[in-house]
Amino acid sequence: QLSHRLTRVAHHVPKGTVVADIGSDHAYLPCHLVLNGVVDKVIAGEVVKGPFESAQKQVQQEGLTAQIDVRLASGLDVILPEDSISTVTIAGMGGPLICSILVQGKKQLVGVERLILQPNVHAKSIRDWAVANNWGIVEEEILKENEKIYEILVLQKVEATVLWTPQQMLMGPELLKEKTAIFQEKWTRESDQWKKIVALMESTAQTKGIIEKKQGLIEKIQLVEEVLQREN
Ligand code: SAM
Repeated sequence: QLSHRLTRVAHHVPKGTVVADIGSDHAYLPCHLVLNGVVDKVIAGEVVKGPFESAQKQVQQEGLTAQIDVRLASGLDVILPEDSISTVTIAGMGGPLICSILVQGKKQLVGVERLILQPNVHAKSIRDWAVANNWGIVEEEILKENEKIYEILVLQKVEATVLWTPQQMLMGPELLKEKTAIFQEKWTRESDQWKKIVALMESTAQTKGIIEKKQGLIEKIQLVEEVLQREN
């Protein structure tokens, strides 16, 4: 049984596309996509030997070696031009790590039409990368599993640079439209945590670094509270 989180990632994969799943671990997502008839060709990439072997084992057990190619390499280096990958999924890592994979794999992104990214933390770094590299956000989703809250960002290439407000960058342009209960819970949790950090900072020596960090947190708290207090 695939986790709720990965089931929702799978939901954004267009039918019949060729997928590269980077950091695939047990290759649960590629197996699910093929077994459910969503796609019939997936490259499962892993950089660490243990998870790479788990992926191979899982794919063999499911009898899917003809459809899922498990490869050992870092990030988008697993993608070869002849693969004609149109969808890339990267799930279960921090936003900054996902961004570094995208930055290092810039060449392999040529021809890719859709990125489905599920950062565990710091989705903002992905939005920063998207704006700087002309990718637009077409869908966003927020979900909760085992008390953890996850975001999914679906990106497609855009012609013109998109401009988002600081609130859209931090909280997600699509997620802000809906402001679901889970979204409100996430940002209430985050701002409560920032407030605790600010209080701690106030009780220590006010060095230049501390004052700057505190100011940064206060600005983020204000951005978030403005959204949470707004009627819609
Ligand atoms: N994608 C799966 C999921 O969402 O459940 C597995 C997530 S697991 C926490 C992260 C995986 O990414 C690990 O197996 C790790 O080895 C792999 N990983 C980390 N950096 C990577 C990179 N640069 N290239 C490929 N895989 C990477």
